[in-house]
Amino acid sequence: MISTERDPHNSSVPRTIPRKAHRISRKDIDSDALKVLYRLNRHGHIAYLVGGGVRDLLLKRSPKDFDISTSAHPNEIKRIFSNCRLIGKRFRLAHIYFRGGKIIEVSTFRTISEFALDEGPISSDNTFGNPAEDAFRRDFTVNALFYNIGNFSVIDYVGGLEDLKNRVIRCIGDPLVRFREDPIRMLRGVRFASLLGFTIDARSQKAIYALRQDIWKGAKPRILDEVLRMFSRGTGVTAFTMMEELGLLESIFPEIDRHIRREGREDYIGTISCLDREQSKGRDFPPAILLAVLFYPYFHSVAERTAGSDTVKLTREILSPIFERLQVPRRIQDTIRQALAAQGRFFALGQKRYRPRTMLGKSYFDDALMLFELIAGGTEEGRKLIGDWRSLRRGGGSGQPRRRKRRRNRAHEGQRPGQR
Ligand code: ATP
Ligand code: MG
Repeated sequence: MISTERDPHNSSVPRTIPRKAHRISRKDIDSDALKVLYRLNRHGHIAYLVGGGVRDLLLKRSPKDFDISTSAHPNEIKRIFSNCRLIGKRFRLAHIYFRGGKIIEVSTFRTISEFALDEGPISSDNTFGNPAEDAFRRDFTVNALFYNIGNFSVIDYVGGLEDLKNRVIRCIGDPLVRFREDPIRMLRGVRFASLLGFTIDARSQKAIYALRQDIWKGAKPRILDEVLRMFSRGTGVTAFTMMEELGLLESIFPEIDRHIRREGREDYIGTISCLDREQSKGRDFPPAILLAVLFYPYFHSVAERTAGSDTVKLTREILSPIFERLQVPRRIQDTIRQALAAQGRFFALGQKRYRPRTMLGKSYFDDALMLFELIAGGTEEGRKLIGDWRSLRRGGGSGQPRRRKRRRNRAHEGQRPGQR
């Protein structure tokens, strides 16, 4: 049955696309996910592949994970699968374990998103719902499509297929309500749009701009996680541009936003495009480097203005407010600071009296060089310096820089025995 209804909340009759009329093939679905789907179905339950898995299969992209939703309640799922553990306090989810540490997540159809802000204990019984309710509680139309293992059809309650065709990220329901309910959805919207090369629909864009400061009502680790994901997949320039346009850069990184207004965005675009290029070749970067790339132009411009000051101290002064705001883990903070403070020394190679050996021995050398490659990789001169540093490192013996002894020990190196 085909429904042309556009207001999703009035549409409980889905559009159903039969097996022959869509491009999802079972051979593209993870074999363990298929086993779970079939097994639930054999036990008389509705079982759908849901979320990003369906979206990506329809786009012929390979999904990151395969999530399943079912009419079976958590305890029923547990009874069916011996390799199952129930997790989650607010909502109980089933994790089904497979070889190699693989986990397939199975959730019971429900009425509310687990991320809806209204916290507090919810008795899990009153959140179970039917497939239509489960579709409407999701964030974006393209994320609410179902693949039904019962007849291999695709089920669309929310207009997701049309939006997929038109390459649009659109909130399900009123964006103002949905972003208030979970502000992190604003960042998810930017992440999906930039990753897939989609636009965000005008209403959702307006709502993001209006609610940009509400992002801080979301859990900080989720904000940080979304920002990191946005810059992890080779589409960072698009994500950054969308963040600027929608006011999210201003609310999350006001320092960077102000810096751009004063001095332009070229430096940011330069380093982030370098990052995108490397990621497109398959290279992965740790979170600290992703953040250091974002902070570098701002840090560099302050460091230039206050030439001669202690750069490590400077990184602390400049970055502490950002780190606190986003609750960046201490270990990542340290790496970011060290890598940023070291950049001047990378550029100093070849200058009189500069002794690169000291640098090679630093514990943070690898991270700092990785950052330098992204910062300096855009110019001929920079690429030459990168080459020189790489060969210096190779010349170091094992190809790995020598690990510096822990700072505490080093502080005692010059002391005579007994002085401690
Ligand atoms: P990815 O490719 O990053 O895994 P995804 O769409 O699968 O993208 P997940 O975070 O894995 O995203 O979530 C799975 C599904 O759960 C989403 O597709 C969406 O339907 C729903 N979902 C996730 N987070 C939210 C949220 N904050 N609000 C509403 N629905 C959500
Ligand atoms: Mg997913």
